[in-house]
Amino acid sequence: MTTSAGRPGGSRPRLGVFKFASCDGCQLTLLDCEDELLGIAGELEIAHFPEASSDVAPGPYDLALVEGSVSTPEHLTRVRRIRAESRHLVTIGACATAGGVQALRNYADVTDYLATVYARPDYIETLATSTPIADHVPVDFELRGCPIDRGQLLEVITAFLAGRKPGIPNHSVCFS
Ligand code: SF4
Repeated sequence: MTTSAGRPGGSRPRLGVFKFASCDGCQLTLLDCEDELLGIAGELEIAHFPEASSDVAPGPYDLALVEGSVSTPEHLTRVRRIRAESRHLVTIGACATAGGVQALRNYADVTDYLATVYARPDYIETLATSTPIADHVPVDFELRGCPIDRGQLLEVITAFLAGRKPGIPNHSVCFS
């Protein structure tokens, strides 16, 4: 794991938070860490977090937190770009790490659902399945839960800032 020490010009590590198919609950857990984030705000730059701010900056990112599953062709393109722009990529929550409840469609024909739900299913671009982020790009760390645990999320952020392994029980994570 790379530490933030020795960065060019002493610049702060850049954090990006990204959403795919999800309910936003795990991002809300991050927002709920407001007091703690203020404490570490001097150590990182929150460059991309649309849930919290309309000011979004392009990559590269030192740490990308990714919520949600891959369910559309656009998701596939975007997650590959985020991976290419991020030094570390951490998936947060059951949607991102296992596909979430929307992955139930993997056991049926998605075209049947489209025909049932939408008046014009031909307008809908979707994949036949909804899958975890790690099925498509390398993931450095998976933080599980629905939603994720607030304390564990802070531990992950703090650990990546410090360049150490997060102190989270092995049964709840997967290291690449
Ligand atoms: Fe929402 Fe649960 Fe998915 Fe998090 S893991 S985005 S709380 S459904």
